[in-house]
Amino acid sequence: MNHRWCQHGRNDSYDAPNRDNCGHNLCSRRGQPVVNSVSRKAPAPSSIEAQRRLAYFDERRDEIVSTIRELVEIESPSDSKTAVDRVSDAVAQKFSDLGGKIRVHQAKDFGNHLQIDFDLHDKAAAKPVLLLGHYDTVYPLGTLTTMPCRTVDNKLTGPGVLDMKSGIALMLHALGALKEWHGGLPRPVTVLLVSDEEVGSDSSRAITESLAKKSAAVLVLEPSYGPQGAVKTARKGVGDYLVKVTGKASHAGLDFQKGVNAILELARQIERISSFTDLKKGLTVNVGIVIGGSRTNVVPAEASAQVDVRIARMKDAAGIDKKMRSLRPFNRKCKIEITGGINRPPMERTAGVAALYAQAAAIARDLGWKLGEAAVGGGSDGNFTAGLGIPTLDGLGGVGDGAHAVHEHILISELPRRAVLIAGLIERV
Ligand SMILES: [Zn+2]
Repeated sequence: MNHRWCQHGRNDSYDAPNRDNCGHNLCSRRGQPVVNSVSRKAPAPSSIEAQRRLAYFDERRDEIVSTIRELVEIESPSDSKTAVDRVSDAVAQKFSDLGGKIRVHQAKDFGNHLQIDFDLHDKAAAKPVLLLGHYDTVYPLGTLTTMPCRTVDNKLTGPGVLDMKSGIALMLHALGALKEWHGGLPRPVTVLLVSDEEVGSDSSRAITESLAKKSAAVLVLEPSYGPQGAVKTARKGVGDYLVKVTGKASHAGLDFQKGVNAILELARQIERISSFTDLKKGLTVNVGIVIGGSRTNVVPAEASAQVDVRIARMKDAAGIDKKMRSLRPFNRKCKIEITGGINRPPMERTAGVAALYAQAAAIARDLGWKLGEAAVGGGSDGNFTAGLGIPTLDGLGGVGDGAHAVHEHILISELPRRAVLIAGLIERV
């Protein structure tokens, strides 16, 4: 059925869904918007429907805030399995209350990952859309005492409120609304919430990829970009390398010449590694951590550097990886060991991604809102799904600032239209 605004109930409220006998005052039975023939100045039916949906979520704004608060107040740092499992259980209960089928993917060293399926009885239904996110945060236990979940004017603060507990709450409320409007979900939906995104997603990546492959599209509820809440249509790929240099220790006073200085060698390597940066290609190489030596009077035998690599295009991955692995010592008395690699492919703005963005922008337009898009340097699990060629749209979650920082917050006033956007995308993609 194409006449979408027919599907959401009769008259002006959502409390009487009736898909077969649409009584909506704006639609003919064929879905032709009658209003267009009445007055050219009247708003399009789609925008009237959009405003109605906005009003629906506006009325429920406090409920959305209280869901977010509940989740933020269960602290869940990636490195505490007990804590992350606690938030996982709470979230599972909420999705279960909505009628989702819960599947817990046990993880040994991290919190469990949570899959929720909303299947339709109709076996011929479309492929599910995958709603993707994580419930781990970067904040250690006890952060709430110094960074409480509080409402200050239009801001809601707290650890993980933006990244990304508001995203989880938006999933819940968008799904709840769709069920109410349609008398059941209009298409199958799979939700995947992982416990280790902030530490690289090693234990969840395979699950994310296998669910993405079965899905029509992936909507990632990570924080949006900037104060206008742009969605993310490109993310850089990320690599981590450890460059370890071994030299030879000696007494800096008595046996200086017998020593082989690993720090000196590493310093020369750092110059070389840093020269791999190619800003035009969006390729950056950052030596972020350096460790070496033991005492000032010892010629250091060991030094190492941790290197962060970002790539905008998958085709640059092999080249930079080869350069890193081809590092050879300047001083042949030194040994170099290189470990690591590219662990998240870039999310490139493919035609599939652009099409998803166009759908999102159309929903926003109906609300009189110009939804921007952004290409960002940071990675997310959306990189994995986009890397498989599955259309992926990221940054659909909360609007705010300060992710991973003491001033992390969301803007409460942005929640309703965000919910409209997410609900609309779940229906359309
Ligand atoms: Zn995140």
